[in-house]
Amino acid sequence: MYWRMMHSVSIGHMGPTAYAFRLAKQRLRPYSPAFMATDQIQILLQAVRDVPDFPKPGIIFKDITTLLSDAKLFKSVIDTFLDANKGRKIDKIVGIDARGFIFGAAVAYQLGVGFIPVRKKGKLPYKTESIGYSLEYGEAVIEMHVDAIAKGEKVVLIDDLLATGGTAAAAAHLIEKMGGELIEAQFLIELEFLNGRERLMPFPVRSFLKY
Ligand code: AMP
Repeated sequence: MYWRMMHSVSIGHMGPTAYAFRLAKQRLRPYSPAFMATDQIQILLQAVRDVPDFPKPGIIFKDITTLLSDAKLFKSVIDTFLDANKGRKIDKIVGIDARGFIFGAAVAYQLGVGFIPVRKKGKLPYKTESIGYSLEYGEAVIEMHVDAIAKGEKVVLIDDLLATGGTAAAAAHLIEKMGGELIEAQFLIELEFLNGRERLMPFPVRSFLKY
C-alpha cells in the first residue's frame, strides 16, 4: 500500500545559499547536550568529516566513514547508542537505508534483538508496505517487509543523521502502520537548525552529536 505524507521540505524555503551559510555557521560551533558533554562526544564531533557541496552545491555532507574506519571511534558510537537503550524493553531495531544499517545492526546484535531494514523502493524481495514522502527536490519511497514487525512490538528507529526529518517520519509511519510501537527515534547526528524532530512529533527523538 502506498500513501502520501503531506509535509513540506524544510530546506527548500531557505534557498541553497542561505542553507549553506547556516550549515557553515553551525559547523564552527558544534556542541552536544550537557549530559553527554564527555570527552568522547567531543572526539566524535571532531572526527565527523564535513564534505562541502556533496551531493549537490550548498550541502555540507556529514561523512561518518571517518568514524567507521577507526575501531575505537566506531565502538564508541555503538556504545553510545547502547547506553541510550540500557534497561529498556525493545523487540526490534529498525535501521534506515543505508547508513542506519551500520549502526542499527550492531546495536541490535549487542541488545540481542531483531534488526529490520527500511529500504529504498524496489530493494526488498518480499511483500512490502510503502510510504512516499517529499524530499528537497522531488519525492522518495521507502519500504518495509509486511511481516517485519508484529503488532505491539516495541521498536527503536536508528539512522546516522536527522536533517529535515522526512525520511525518519516516513519510517515512523511505516512502523506504526504495521502495529509496532515506536519508543524512540535515535540518530548519531542531528542538524538542529533544520527542525527535523518537529516532523517526528509526537515520537521521542534522541541524538548525540548536534550541529
Ligand atoms: P532527512 O530526511 O532530510 O532528515 O534526511 C535524512 C537522511 O538523509 C539520512 O538518512 C541521512 O543519512 C541523509 N542526509 C541528509 N542530510 C545529510 C547531510 N548533510 N550529511 C549526511 N547525510 C545526510
